[in-house]
Amino acid sequence: MSCYRGKYADELIKNAAYIGTPGKGILAADESTSTIGKRFSGINVENNEANRRTLRELLFTAPGAMQYLSGVILFEETLYQKTAAGKPFVDVMKEGGALPGIKVDKGVVELPGTNGETTTQGLDDLGQRCAEYYKAGARFAKWRAVLKIGANEPSPLAIHENAYGLARYAMICQENGLVPIVEPEILVDGPHDIDRCAHVTERVLAACYKALNDHHVLLEGTLLKPNMVTPGSDAGGKKLAPEVIAEYTVRALQRTMPAAVPAVVFLSGGQSEEEATVNLNAMNKLKTKKPWSLTFSYGRALQQSTLKAWAGKADNFQKAQKVFVERCKANSEATLGTYQGGAGAAEGASESLHVKDYKY
Ligand code: 13P
Repeated sequence: MSCYRGKYADELIKNAAYIGTPGKGILAADESTSTIGKRFSGINVENNEANRRTLRELLFTAPGAMQYLSGVILFEETLYQKTAAGKPFVDVMKEGGALPGIKVDKGVVELPGTNGETTTQGLDDLGQRCAEYYKAGARFAKWRAVLKIGANEPSPLAIHENAYGLARYAMICQENGLVPIVEPEILVDGPHDIDRCAHVTERVLAACYKALNDHHVLLEGTLLKPNMVTPGSDAGGKKLAPEVIAEYTVRALQRTMPAAVPAVVFLSGGQSEEEATVNLNAMNKLKTKKPWSLTFSYGRALQQSTLKAWAGKADNFQKAQKVFVERCKANSEATLGTYQGGAGAAEGASESLHVKDYKY
């Protein structure tokens, strides 16, 4: 067999292409219960199911937001939740034209014998869970593999293990009708320069596409969620211009990413909201070979100023929704290379969202 040609093939190709539609992107709202707890503690909100549901309702029902979104990634709890008025969130998304997605990994564990490198868990019952999520309305999935840059990292072991884990996950998703987002996140932590990040990104992506091919994954029915190529968080020196980050990032993709994959949906990885937007915009303005669309799948960089504006208070609900829609619109423009700036005024939009050794 060359690649997946089962009953879902046409649907996977159609949905992956749709998610990558220029002008739209993905809201990553799939923070696990412990991760959302950290966000809530920053705004003094208790981490309980009611508050988690309210935040998600704020995001999904923000008037006008869905026109900028082709997909929303959910944590399992949210897939089965409803609005206060009783409408399933999945239906809110369908009506708004965004496909529901689901985080299917179960977090990372250390790879013994390495210097703190990790592998991602969750393969054992994955087929069964994917089938249930499909029935519940999900049409795509996310699995986050994490690599780090150190003096001797990522090790060949970590690169191989994470690439093959992603490939196995991707094939299991496709057999169950879910478009797999392949996410090999190289953390920004460290003092390395942009050239080192580019080198590591190219090695990791090349290994991922070798593994996806070995596992017979239908590339047209997948999406890539990579980090942008940037200097490390402790590199010091002057910030690089978005045009430089754009050039390095697109070149790394040109060297490693097959044209068969319809779209790249970047993670924000600790960049500020405004940085994540202007860097994506610069990539879409770049005049060079780009056989895929370049869009977003941001978590922190779509939600930070909204969380601050909301602060858990019912009175702030609509004001926070406006902040969220402004951020979605800015990123939508960035996917077209037409963002003119100016969405950075909201409180929190320019602040770094970097968290060392980030767990999702
Ligand atoms: P950030 O955009 O906050 O990096 O998160 C995106 C995501 O889904 C990571 O898996």
